Amino acid sequence: MARAGGPTVKENGFLCDMCGKRFAQKWKLKRHSVCHSGLKPHACDICNKRFLRKDDLKAHLQIHEESKAHVCEKCNKDFSRKKDLQRHMVVHTK
Ligand SMILES: [Zn+2]
Ligand SMILES: [Zn+2]
Ligand SMILES: [Zn+2]
Repeated sequence: MARAGGPTVKENGFLCDMCGKRFAQKWKLKRHSVCHSGLKPHACDICNKRFLRKDDLKAHLQIHEESKAHVCEKCNKDFSRKKDLQRHMVVHTK
């Protein structure tokens, strides 16, 4: 499908018809066009809050991670981190 006369830059890429931004890949345009639709593609599994960017969702998930209580089944002591609980469990294994 190679055309003679070298590569043409003209019409190379995908144009966003909302803001005129050009993207080399169709998926990049698709990803970008989401910001015009108001639809947020990344949803939190826990509270269903939606985020535009994956990084925002990731940052948000930290909240759930920290508020989640890890309770010791032996003495009911609770820990904010799973690692702390695991470390604590050693006292019951003696
Ligand atoms: Zn756009
Ligand atoms: Zn959430
Ligand atoms: Zn315990």
